[in-house]
Amino acid sequence: MTSPTECPACRKPAGEELSCQFCNQVLFLPQGITLSTAGLRFGGYLLEFVLMICTLVIGWAIWALIVFQYGQTPAKQLLHMRVVCIPQARTAGWLRMFFREVIAKTLIGFLASFTLLIPYFWLLWDKNRQELWDKMATTLVVSDPRDLLRPQPQPQLSDSRAGTPQR
Ligand SMILES: [Zn+2]
Repeated sequence: MTSPTECPACRKPAGEELSCQFCNQVLFLPQGITLSTAGLRFGGYLLEFVLMICTLVIGWAIWALIVFQYGQTPAKQLLHMRVVCIPQARTAGWLRMFFREVIAKTLIGFLASFTLLIPYFWLLWDKNRQELWDKMATTLVVSDPRDLLRPQPQPQLSDSRAGTPQR
């Protein structure tokens, strides 16, 4: 008999999915990282659109290219949301973000244009609230209010085995 996985955050049986069925804690990430709600996801789309208009798109695009390295887009940064890579169990890197935001969303957008926009609502019935571009990029969108998953800059000269001498 297998015992159900206990959620590290709320101590209830977490269920079979990637996040706790009671408190949304993402089970493979540090405590405090929750799966973003559908309402926040759709609010994010709206905010993204408003930001694009306000910055004449180009400002938004430059902003996006900068924050991709943090697994974010402009609206996600403002809403403390982050894209994580499921197989690596960490924040999505710049290339994965570029693939997700530019390539995958363009393809899905094309598909959506002749399927009544249904793909944009995929997260409503997906158990892990993934959109189709999340499936393509194997990503999950989480809320990270305390910036726990913000990637730290890698020290450039720390690859020697002895490490940096301490004073
Ligand atoms: Zn829980």
